[in-house]
Amino acid sequence: MPDIRVHDGSAFEAYADVVIVGAGAGGLIAALRAKAAGAGVLVLERDAVPRGSTALSAGLIPAAGTRFQKAANILDSEEIFVGDILRKAHGEPEAARVAIPVRAVAPAIEWLAERYDLPFSVIENFTYPGHSAYRMHGLPSRSGLELMDRLRAAAERADIDIITEAQVTTLLTGEGGRIAGVELARPDGTRDSIGCKALILACNGYGGNKALVAQHIPELATALYFGHPGNQGEAILWGQALGAQTADLSGHQGHGSVAEPHGILITWASMVEGGFQVNRQGKRFSDESHGYSEHAATVLKQEGGIAWSIFDARIAEIARQFEDFRNAEAQGAVLTAQTPEALALRISVPADALAATFEAVEAAKASGVTDSFGRKWAGIKPLEAPYCAVKVTGALFHTQGGLAVNAEARVLRPDGTALPNLFAVGGAAHGVSGSQASGYLSGNGLLTAFAYGYLAGEAAAKL
Ligand SMILES: Cc1cc2nc3c(=O)[nH]c(=O)nc-3n(C[C@H](O)[C@H](O)[C@H](O)COP(=O)(O)OP(=O)(O)OC[C@H]3O[C@@H](n4cnc5c(N)ncnc54)[C@H](O)[C@@H]3O)c2cc1C
Repeated sequence: MPDIRVHDGSAFEAYADVVIVGAGAGGLIAALRAKAAGAGVLVLERDAVPRGSTALSAGLIPAAGTRFQKAANILDSEEIFVGDILRKAHGEPEAARVAIPVRAVAPAIEWLAERYDLPFSVIENFTYPGHSAYRMHGLPSRSGLELMDRLRAAAERADIDIITEAQVTTLLTGEGGRIAGVELARPDGTRDSIGCKALILACNGYGGNKALVAQHIPELATALYFGHPGNQGEAILWGQALGAQTADLSGHQGHGSVAEPHGILITWASMVEGGFQVNRQGKRFSDESHGYSEHAATVLKQEGGIAWSIFDARIAEIARQFEDFRNAEAQGAVLTAQTPEALALRISVPADALAATFEAVEAAKASGVTDSFGRKWAGIKPLEAPYCAVKVTGALFHTQGGLAVNAEARVLRPDGTALPNLFAVGGAAHGVSGSQASGYLSGNGLLTAFAYGYLAGEAAAKL
């Protein structure tokens, strides 16, 4: 249980200007930025190798107005991006607050590319639901593992100390509500205390904490958690104990397309590009174009908590740019057949029902109508044999609620004043998705890890 204690004045075992809890994308970007601004930095990470949820992700970061977009002649702007986030989040977050990470994320990506040679490029062969421009930036393998490897290599180059197997258990407070330092525990039970001038919480949200999930997201209380198990919600619990404001704790990213039982993410491009989902009866049950996040609960409501994602070879080729999809194919998760009836046999759903579903979808595409679920099919390419199917389930990926922060990622009290020297970034901070799964626009996770990491590092160094 995360704990807070008044520092008794004894000497710390070590000291750094800026101490960062967690070495995911948010923590490492904050560290790089603080170091570049001249601060002494120490990153504390509970795992032996820093990976976090970032390494499990597709590593795609949305940003508007980057040089990568300009080079590809993509028209986009911060205003359009803010508008997309607000539309997906049903207007719940305030526009001025959303504009903070949106404004910071493009410079963060460009800075990492220029200073640390991270070779970002923009995905240009499909858009995620709700984004009105191609703006997902990723590394060559389109994987979060590569993102983490490259951020770790950058931290090494910048001579940043990362202490691994160091789980921060306790915040030590000093005068006037300042954080004087932290206490950490090692796997062998030994403990150390580290002093700091500023503390950055980069230990993500509470997706790995079953009790907190049951409290704030009851509809996913028994769902598969697909994020990093170390995301136990300490930042939120520490913040609450310090009198900080938390917000939108029920907000989260779910996903309705995790291969079952392989546990591999199947990109939602499989749906957006013209695929659809059916249940065990071979029937569609939703508008798949809405977004994958809200589909977690929708898929879990189907018999057995599963669905089949159906697409074709053209879409599989688009999906193959993702390492995850290639792994899913290698593990036999993607079944193929030449006709809907043969596919039905392979996935054990009624052949006549699946054939009728295919027929209805293709007729809707041909006539460009909106179907009874509200999905607009105009302009979407028909599916052509060979057809593909993957058995999927719904999962919780990460939580979006968190500690309220200002434009420097400083943690705020309910009256809007900032705590003296505490920052929160990434999943530890209040996200921009509002209070519902359906408010999550693709990329909102790494958006706040990159943007608030970049802002917090610079502001903490000034302290
Ligand atoms: C499968 C999957 C796919 C996703 N795809 C995308 C995507 O393509 N785009 C996108 O924007 N978002 C995506 N997300 C969400 C995204 O991964 C997260 O929002 C983002 O990685 C959060 O970064 P972070 O730095 O806040 O946390 P993390 O990357 O989780 O890092 C937190 C670190 O803190 C450490 N830690 C925790 N507690 C302590 C402690 N007490 N002491 C010391 N260390 C501690 C953890 O071990 C971890 O290393 C995806 C998530 C999942 C699970």
